[in-house]
Amino acid sequence: MTSKRNIMIPKPQSNFISVQCPECGEKRIIFTHTTTDINCNSCGQALAKKAGAKANVLGKVQNILD
Ligand SMILES: [Zn+2]
Repeated sequence: MTSKRNIMIPKPQSNFISVQCPECGEKRIIFTHTTTDINCNSCGQALAKKAGAKANVLGKVQNILD
């Protein structure tokens, strides 16, 4: 019998995160495994740099989204 619902769903290797620009405070949602550098839309500050698999996030992480 498999009536219990305790199955652990493995977390995906990738996430979207909400990052706040350290320069101007603009918030942006970025993909943690981005393959391109991401800059702030407003001031051009680098928010994430591509780094092989997972990007280096330079901004302030606000939330981790599904
Ligand atoms: Zn900015």
